[in-house]
Amino acid sequence: MRVLAFLDETLADPDLAHLRVDDLGLLRGDGVFETILVAGGKPRELAAHLDRLARSAAMMDLPEPVLADWERVVQLVLRTWAGGPEFVLKLVLTRGIEGDPEHRTTGFALASEVPAKVLRSRVDGVSAITLERGFEPGLAERAPWLLLGAKTMSYGVNMAALREAERRGAGDVIFTAADGSVLEGPTSTVVLARDRTLYTPPSNVGILPGTTQAALFRGAERAGWSVKVEPLRVADLYEGDAVLLASSVRKLARVHTLDGRELRDPGVLHDELAAAYEAEYAVTSNC
Ligand code: PLP
Repeated sequence: MRVLAFLDETLADPDLAHLRVDDLGLLRGDGVFETILVAGGKPRELAAHLDRLARSAAMMDLPEPVLADWERVVQLVLRTWAGGPEFVLKLVLTRGIEGDPEHRTTGFALASEVPAKVLRSRVDGVSAITLERGFEPGLAERAPWLLLGAKTMSYGVNMAALREAERRGAGDVIFTAADGSVLEGPTSTVVLARDRTLYTPPSNVGILPGTTQAALFRGAERAGWSVKVEPLRVADLYEGDAVLLASSVRKLARVHTLDGRELRDPGVLHDELAAAYEAEYAVTSNC
């Protein structure tokens, strides 16, 4: 089951071709996107995702997304979806057709099933390897044109890193900066649990501010945990009580093995934190 809707609220068949071959999103990865989890008919963290879409667009000098249009197209997809209670909703905004004198952007929303591999990672966790990302933590602020921390469509490096992990027999990646500090996963935020405190690196080191990590931190605080946003070193990950990869569709995946070494948590903390994260949604949706 898939649903495709363009920003002008036209529904289209996702099995047919609709984009032009000279769309700059295709030609240059020149666009931004968001991936949202819809659960029980509700898009999780929609406002945060739309904020981040606007922030990424601003970093790329794209026209400011009209949030009311995106909210309408999201509602259209939600009404049209006839599959299971949980699905993936991708919002895509590109610079449009090369040379278009009117500079019209391309925007669409695509809903699809949650991949089986992602569902498995929520339960079984993943093994991960650390891979160098090649930049120092100060670079993002010094060189904004590198778009570090923007959710652009240029995910070639991220996907290559995941293939490298597969070649080395692992399921995921934790990127490290040139100084050895922890950055993020290719499609996730890194969260460390230690002594009833959750840690994640600050987004100004050049990583995406995660909506799932933010929701987890809110939920964990309600459940009595402390939370801290501060630089982490790889050694911290081994010394902590649990390491999680957080992202919208996977929710929270426990890292059970890092660079071939088993990590501490046998899953107990993961389950507790997953419950705190879900409870946060129950609270929000009951308000
Ligand atoms: N970091 C990167 C590079 C990502 O691609 C993602 C999501 O895909 C995340 C972090 C996690 O973001 P979110 O929790 O908002 O899905």
